[in-house]
Amino acid sequence: MTMELCDHTAAELSALLHAGKISATEITRSVFRRIDERDGGINAYISTCREAAMKAADEADARYANQSPLSAIDGIPVAVKDNICTRGVATTCGSKILTDYMPPYDATAVTRLKQSGAVLVGKTNLDEFGMGSSTEKSAYGPTRNPHDDQYVAGGSSGGSAAAVASGEAILSLGSDTGGSIRMPAAYCGVTGIKPTYGRVSRYGLIAYASSLDQIGGFGRSVADCALLLNTIAGHDPRDTTSADVKTVDYTQSLQQDIRGLKIGMPKEYFVEGLDAELTRRIQTAVELLSKEGAEIVEVSIPNIKYAVSTYYLIATAEASSNLARFDGVKYGLRETGEQNDLMHMYEYTRSYGFGMEVKRRIMLGTYVLSAGYYDAYYLKAQKLRTLIRRDFDDVFNEVDCLIAPVTTSTPFRIGEKSDDPLQMYLEDIYTVSVNLAGLPGMSVNCGTVRDLPVAFQIIGKPFEESTLFRLGNAYEKLASR
Ligand code: GLN
Repeated sequence: MTMELCDHTAAELSALLHAGKISATEITRSVFRRIDERDGGINAYISTCREAAMKAADEADARYANQSPLSAIDGIPVAVKDNICTRGVATTCGSKILTDYMPPYDATAVTRLKQSGAVLVGKTNLDEFGMGSSTEKSAYGPTRNPHDDQYVAGGSSGGSAAAVASGEAILSLGSDTGGSIRMPAAYCGVTGIKPTYGRVSRYGLIAYASSLDQIGGFGRSVADCALLLNTIAGHDPRDTTSADVKTVDYTQSLQQDIRGLKIGMPKEYFVEGLDAELTRRIQTAVELLSKEGAEIVEVSIPNIKYAVSTYYLIATAEASSNLARFDGVKYGLRETGEQNDLMHMYEYTRSYGFGMEVKRRIMLGTYVLSAGYYDAYYLKAQKLRTLIRRDFDDVFNEVDCLIAPVTTSTPFRIGEKSDDPLQMYLEDIYTVSVNLAGLPGMSVNCGTVRDLPVAFQIIGKPFEESTLFRLGNAYEKLASR
């Protein structure tokens, strides 16, 4: 296949745009051509906004012609996960219950993209309300892996990852509650950044589990993710959990070498159950980094064994409370049934509007929060969450960051795990602890195994995303030599 504009990185396109060699209109056209060619098979998008995108690209070109681009990503086509509100553009959360829901406002992350001149391409597919690890649990059909359509794209931000991997977008936004950015990034062979909890405003992100949710995104390189985070990071008074912590220019971190950087390898992560070939790829990556002057130390996160159970108690508890708002009154779908009274309206709307997995989570969450079980499950999970966070605090006294797997193996086949929720939950074993502890994490591609992409994860100290960019970019440079 010949290389089209839509196959370039955001950094390359940005340089070409600033040099006046190409136009935003050409890039946007190229992206939509790719969508026409491939999205029938991939299903990365729930909806696209071609007309508005062409208009936005036109406006970007006018700014370039005036020598007054708004930012490094002015005119770059960006896709947005469909649980992030976009004014006047349907935001479905991958659910029937929000078909036709038209947000009257933009999420802060979207406002910041627009203020930077980015071109909104469309809204990407996801597991309903972000609940899943494969993007098979969407009311709008599964997203398929662009590298091989027999395999899942990973989830829940599978649409956003697949869009960037296939050239159907240059950058994209996702959300990560327990791995939903890092895991599909790994499976689709792109870079995914999940920032520190509080780094990016959650205003306008439709909540799944509020204490874990964080907006981040995807790019075709570590540098592209730095450009994206530069745009969306920073304090927002509209989100009380948004942190008033200084942001830095993440593209600056890309230049720093890694001599003396201390990298921890948590021994509990590299155990039986982790694919042998994948383990070798990660080891090779670590050797390259070590030759370049990074110091590798074995560390321990003993409470990691509780991470998946802790996560699924807290996430479902919060979900059951957050999803109570979808009752047929305030947003989206309303089903009244023949009785036409209030209780039946609630019942019909929720029975018809939510999919199986969402119902399972609401039931689990309601159970763990109910009187008599609260102490045994929810409270205990909160205590474990603190212990996990302390484990990370302890190792971060010794090292600057950690390297870990993202997934246990290569992407699985469509349908392979969809009838077994426990199997699906176990997919998240390497990612959920980062959300429980509120840390930043990045998924960096490190080649292929059995012709499918694989990745390693870099985990950083709170608000030190710059270390992830520094290390990730150093690895990319070394690997391409
Ligand atoms: N797979 C995890 C879940 O189903 C994480 C999802 C996410 O990060 N949104 O909850």
